This record gives sequence, structure tokens and C-alpha cells, in this order.
Amino acid sequence: MKKRPLGQNFLVDLNAARRILELAGISPGEPVLEIGPGKGVLTGGLIERSGALTAIEIDPRLCAELTKRFGSNPGFRLLQADALKFDYSSLGPRFKVVSNLPYYAAVPILKRLVHYGARISDMTLMLQKEVADRLVAEPGSKAYGSLSVFVQYHCQVERLMEVGKNAFSPPPKVNSTVIRATPRVRPKVEVNDEKTFFSIVHAAFFHKRKMLKNNLKAWEKQFDLDRNKIHLAGIDLARRGETLSLEDFAAISNVIHSAND
Ligand code: SAM
Repeated sequence: MKKRPLGQNFLVDLNAARRILELAGISPGEPVLEIGPGKGVLTGGLIERSGALTAIEIDPRLCAELTKRFGSNPGFRLLQADALKFDYSSLGPRFKVVSNLPYYAAVPILKRLVHYGARISDMTLMLQKEVADRLVAEPGSKAYGSLSVFVQYHCQVERLMEVGKNAFSPPPKVNSTVIRATPRVRPKVEVNDEKTFFSIVHAAFFHKRKMLKNNLKAWEKQFDLDRNKIHLAGIDLARRGETLSLEDFAAISNVIHSAND
């Protein structure tokens, strides 16, 4: 099969497209950003609902098709640009994001959008099911990892709908899921220093099968020994990182950060 380096699996199931448009909950006049409009299966409906759509598409051939189809509509602006590099602050103070993300770049694009979260009211995103599983994962589950902690720290994440491979042309190898991520006004947990928090989270998941006392060795000066058990911020370091909630990571991070102050 022809290689599709730009993740060009186009949604052809019009029921799924209609449901995504409904789930996005767009109010008339609300600015919307669509990343990767492709052949425009969502674009017409987005223009109709919002009347203020900006779309970013990297592929010049698709841009030409989209301009032909929607270019005369005053509620549509198309930018030929790379969503991985785009400066989203140029889009104005507040907008919604709706996208069937190119799967090869779903995680880095999502991370970039989270970075601009103060401007984004919410994001309705279709991505590969395996990534959606990681985004909504709870502590103790197989999919829970540093991506879950990062996204849940900054956003409230909900799983909205499953979409099978056959809804696309050509069908991708994996199933898809639509999620909604709503950036939080304040992070989910209070941390004294985000850099310390995320260094600990990354270290805790670095060797997933190892106990925290091994993964967090860099901070062993702060370990407490109590009746032959090693603790940090009251958390038993014989546990694995995958069992810790965001609150637990915040507790560890705040103890470490205040000790280093
Ligand atoms: N929205 C369309 C649909 O649902 O049928 C297309 C979705 S397709 C999964 C992903 C789209 O993102 C393609 O149109 C592709 O050309 C575009 N794309 C891929 N990489 C991109 C990037 N880095 N920046 C912007 N668009 C990109």
C-alpha cells in the first residue's frame, strides 16, 4: 500500500462526522481551529456552526482543494502550515479546537496545544484509541504513564466516542477514539515547582517495572527510613510509579522542592 507519511486517513463515515460536529458543541460566532482539514469532511459543518473557522493544513494539494470548495466563504480562513510548529497565540485570545489529528503527530500536537491552553476553551480530538487510553488512564491501569499525568494535570479529559477503522479511507491499522480535553483554569494539583514535578513523574515511569526507590534514586537524600521501609512524603517507595495519583506525585514533588529551596 502507498505510504502515507502525513497520516492521511480521511473520515468517510458521515454519521461519525455529524456526531463529532455535535459533540464539539460550537456556538454561533465562536472561533474554531481545525487542524488537518484534509478533504473537508468536518470543515463545511464547522464553518456553518461557527462562522469563524481557521484551518491549518500542511499539504498544498489539499489546501488547493479546500480553497476551491470553501475559499469564497467569509467565515473560513485556511493557513498552509505545520501544526507542530504553528504559533497558536496568533489566533486570538480564545478559540475551540476540533480535529481528526494526523496520528503520527497526535501526541506532539496535543502537547503543543496544551501549552497554549489558556486560549483554548476546549478541544474535541479524534486520535488513535491507544493514545486516548493513555490520556484518560487512571493510576494502577496499564495505560497510565507520564502522558496521562501531563495531560490530566493541565486538562480535564473525557472519552466521547469510538470510531472503527472502516470509517476511514484508506482504513488505518488501528481504531480511533474521540476525546474532549478542556484546559483547566488551575492545574489539577498544587505543585510548588512544575519542573521538579515533571522531572519526578518522568523518572517514576522511566523503568515502568521498577520500584520508586530505584527510579527516584537521584533524590535519595530526601528518602526517609522507617521500620525498614523507605518513604518519601509518606509514600512507600516500594510502590511503582504507575500506582501514584497526581496528588501523590505533587506530595513527593513539594517535599523535594522545599528541601532544595
Ligand atoms: N480532517 C480530515 C478527515 O477527518 O478526513 C483529515 C484527517 S487526516 C487523519 C489528518 C490531516 O492532517 C491530513 O489532511 C494531513 O494532510 C494533515 N496533516 C498532517 N500533518 C500535519 C501537520 N504537521 N500540520 C498540519 N496538518 C497536517
